[in-house]
Amino acid sequence: MNFVSQTASVSAMIHGNTAQSTRNNRRVQVTRNLTWSNRAQTVKCTPEQSFFPKHFEDLKAVVKMADRTEKNIRVVASGYAQSDLISTPDILLYLQHLDRVRVDQSQVDCPIVVAEAGATIGKINHAIESEGFALPSNVVMEDAQIGAVISSGSQGTGWSQGCMSDLVEWIELIDSTGTLRRFDRQSDSPEVMQAVSLHMGMMGITYRLALRIQPTWNVHVIDQRLPLEDTIAHLPVLVKSHESVQFWWKPFSEEIWMRSWNRTDRAVTSTDRHCVMMRTSARIRSQAQMMLAKAGNRMPKWSRKFSQWQFNCTMESSDRVVSILNAIHCRRACHCLQAGSIQFAFPLSEDFHEAQQAFEMVKTNIEAFSEQFGLPAHLNLHARFVGGSQATLSPTHGMEHACYLYLSGDHSDARWAELTAQIASEWLKISGATIHWASSFQHIPGIVPILREKLSKQIDAFLDIKEDLNLDPQGRFMSQHLASIFDQNIGPVGTSISR
Ligand SMILES: Cc1cc2nc3c(=O)[nH]c(=O)nc-3n(C[C@H](O)[C@H](O)[C@H](O)COP(=O)(O)OP(=O)(O)OC[C@H]3O[C@@H](n4cnc5c(N)ncnc54)[C@H](O)[C@@H]3O)c2cc1C
Repeated sequence: MNFVSQTASVSAMIHGNTAQSTRNNRRVQVTRNLTWSNRAQTVKCTPEQSFFPKHFEDLKAVVKMADRTEKNIRVVASGYAQSDLISTPDILLYLQHLDRVRVDQSQVDCPIVVAEAGATIGKINHAIESEGFALPSNVVMEDAQIGAVISSGSQGTGWSQGCMSDLVEWIELIDSTGTLRRFDRQSDSPEVMQAVSLHMGMMGITYRLALRIQPTWNVHVIDQRLPLEDTIAHLPVLVKSHESVQFWWKPFSEEIWMRSWNRTDRAVTSTDRHCVMMRTSARIRSQAQMMLAKAGNRMPKWSRKFSQWQFNCTMESSDRVVSILNAIHCRRACHCLQAGSIQFAFPLSEDFHEAQQAFEMVKTNIEAFSEQFGLPAHLNLHARFVGGSQATLSPTHGMEHACYLYLSGDHSDARWAELTAQIASEWLKISGATIHWASSFQHIPGIVPILREKLSKQIDAFLDIKEDLNLDPQGRFMSQHLASIFDQNIGPVGTSISR
């Protein structure tokens, strides 16, 4: 994330609205009017107070202070979310200091990793890998924080993998009174666990959680280019014959790049995940490409050529055996591109016609749009195929299997919003299609009423559990943006929001 400006005292002590930690009876440090923006620079806010708690007691003290002073309170993690899930005018919490991780193998049939919410995926990977474990599924970026990955319903890849919230064994939240509340798969109902494990910060602050892990394994990964039309026509066979399949496509390319893997007993042939040189060269390459593509896209008639050139430069073929962590965290540079994205989940029938239809919509819209206006730089379509999720608010809740399509590109170009709004509006017509919460959706025409209608059952079930658990009766944790979707009686941020 970026600190855009700092207009007042940094690390000052607030004496009026003091958050007094019980740890050594000291005050929690606060920064006033610190402007925050997400990584893609699509959202920003300047909260009155920003806190960087170092201990659990600090966190509790800030929440209690927020309750006492009737302030709204939100959490930011690594700031990758592109929708407005975070902004608040009142109190913003940064949890990166709360990052302790430990592996617990006391239950042989259910090993877990216990992590504070601010621990990054990289830190968790490091701890579990050294003890021979891996998470069953994982997001691409190792610098995302686990509290956020779980709260926002992030998903990995894999035909039988739901979203990461499904891995939660227990979770500890701080409610609006500053009380620690623990929810455990052993003692709480499935409905409660399904709601509290994906709450986008609306049920409280996630302090700590435990996730199921499993002994690590190797996979045989094949990267290859395939003919586009033929591949789309044979999606069901290709996808179902692998543990994981992902595709990347660039406009006007007649080929598509497929990465697939299956579990293997063979020894690894490549261990490049930690190679600094490869990571640095990947970053330099992708930034150079972004710059060139941006320059080229000022000349609309070059859009087609640039897109084809980029596909040819980046999509290499390979065949290797790697550990599952190497396979998942393969894209070494994707986090340095400040690209915009829209991402949707589509339910899959036997013949995958929803995914085929969604892909066709991208192609036809891009072709028609580029004829008239050219294209924003760096357009890239990524597809994953996953299992359905149990989490109440997951985009794949209630689905058996789903396809996620992720369209990214240069959002600083005015054409980006127009083109992606067009495509998203078409995607929404596919039955059961819905947004990934962390990708941009605020620019899609009429999206709020559409989501309210599409997700009405899930939203009602979530709000009922939230009310029963009495985690936040005053709506202190609700963001204005989320309130517009989740609450018919939207109140101004910082004031009581019903339910
Ligand atoms: C290049 C790139 C790759 C991506 N890859 C994936 C992917 O593989 N899979 C996927 O699903 N998504 C992916 N995303 C989308 C998104 O980044 C992820 O959802 C990610 O989990 C966000 O993590 P973060 O640490 O940046 O969280 P943030 O964006 O900082 O926060 C996300 C949400 O979590 C809430 N939150 C954070 N911590 C807490 C807490 N302790 N308590 C309560 N609420 C909390 C925040 O308030 C916010 O609502 C990707 C995005 C980009 C830009």
